Amino acid sequence: MPDHDISVPSARPAGKAFRTARSASIHGGYEWRLGITPPVVTPIFQTAAFELPSAAAAAGIFDLQQDGHAYSRLNNPTCDVLEERMAAVDGAAAGLAVASGQAAIALALLDLCQAGDNIVSSDELYGGTWNLLANTFARFGIEVRFVSPGNPKNFTEASDDRTRCFFGETMPNPKLRIFPVEEVAELAEGLGVPLVLDNTMLPYVCRPIEHGAHIVVYSATKYIGGHGSTLGGLILDSGRFDWDAHADRHPLLTTPDAAHGGVVWTRTGLDLDSPLGRSPYLLKARETLLRDLGPCLSPFNAWLLLQGLETLPLRMRAHGENARRVAAHLQEHPRVASVRYPGLATGDEARLTERYLGDNGGPLVQFELTGGREAGCRFIEALRLISHVTNIGDVRSLATHPASTTHAQLPEADQLAAGVTQGSIRLAVGIEDIDDLLADLERALGAS
Ligand code: PLP
Repeated sequence: MPDHDISVPSARPAGKAFRTARSASIHGGYEWRLGITPPVVTPIFQTAAFELPSAAAAAGIFDLQQDGHAYSRLNNPTCDVLEERMAAVDGAAAGLAVASGQAAIALALLDLCQAGDNIVSSDELYGGTWNLLANTFARFGIEVRFVSPGNPKNFTEASDDRTRCFFGETMPNPKLRIFPVEEVAELAEGLGVPLVLDNTMLPYVCRPIEHGAHIVVYSATKYIGGHGSTLGGLILDSGRFDWDAHADRHPLLTTPDAAHGGVVWTRTGLDLDSPLGRSPYLLKARETLLRDLGPCLSPFNAWLLLQGLETLPLRMRAHGENARRVAAHLQEHPRVASVRYPGLATGDEARLTERYLGDNGGPLVQFELTGGREAGCRFIEALRLISHVTNIGDVRSLATHPASTTHAQLPEADQLAAGVTQGSIRLAVGIEDIDDLLADLERALGAS
């Protein structure tokens, strides 16, 4: 948490000692620096602006010579704790909180690219991300080349000297095929570009930085918040990508930037141990893109996400245990034609699951009903516990029939390419009692 000139060091609580991501999800990033008895829970700093302590300190903040707060579009103490805490959970050097997952992806990639540049992306993506990359980025003059992650070499083969990063999702849905993180990260390094990974489906279960990812993005709306109560997004920087060693590929970070008084982001002179100094990449995103486009996270929403983050490790375990039981149950059912669940995969897919997810098969299950589209609609309507919602990542179990909702606008051939058939159902398995969940599934399968 950045320092304030009004801090009273004697009032600080003794530093918390912890060594694991699980403890970091509760304690990470929170150090009280105001002169009153420290609140146990991170307070909500619901303010648009901060009173600047002196002319010199104000100039230092605006010149990037010192950490501090001026205006909540750029940073806010409640959002700072969320950034620091999730960075601690994932083993990142620093984080940036924004208004939604879409904002996180957009800023993470725009921070690296300008018109004429390109990105090589996995073609297994959330639909909203696909639209952002294929349509909106194309209008900005940024080309996105989509490749199958099934063969990691596809990423290098699609690249050229204007490629600025590789992008993918750790566990895209509905295919639920685990991304080959280590292989693609190595190829990215060979080319001199970072691997940016969307780890929305697997926070805490998979820590992509441990496997070589350079930048990680989240829709915190999903499992990090965990209660379906707010939108939010996060960008985390591993701090391990050497921008200066690949300066030709990353002129936006390594040459003077007119968007901030000609600063060279990799040479700001900020203390490398400070939250802002640890990541030139996120400092640039904050001080140019977040400043100019404005998708900042509200302090209240940051607080809701912090509440969720405190139980993330417990919830992800409970989601995984329930999802495994649900998938195994569905596999045996006569009205179910097939089930996709990474925790029950075999062969190469099982090896990827084990390497990246350990013994947690993840929270999502996709299955296909034998009765096709009509059966899908009947199934959804017969549910009495599981909610019919196109969201995921809630403590409540949620079911979607993609062919009549999220994928309804796509031609059938494109639905099939995305892994959606007329009888497909996606379950975001919640943490309710497993017997209640299985009873609801039985009831709905009976009606399908
Ligand atoms: N990334 C993935 C994998 C998602 O599933 C979603 C939303 O469903 C997003 C990003 C976008 O997140 P948000 O809805 O918070 O903007």
